[in-house]
Amino acid sequence: MTDQHCPGFESNKTLNEVKIKCPECGKEWGIFSDEAEKMAKCPACGAAVDPKTCAVK
Ligand SMILES: [Zn+2]
Repeated sequence: MTDQHCPGFESNKTLNEVKIKCPECGKEWGIFSDEAEKMAKCPACGAAVDPKTCAVK
């Protein structure tokens, strides 16, 4: 890590992946951390999943 570049630019480049699990069907998949602020949709069953409460550690 270097402080030579704009810190805002760096943080936009390094999105973390968040793994979430569907409470309806148990499907696990990954979303980007910037998508964790809003509801995600399960790719398997289509249920609305809140990444903040369904994150897999
Ligand atoms: Zn599901």
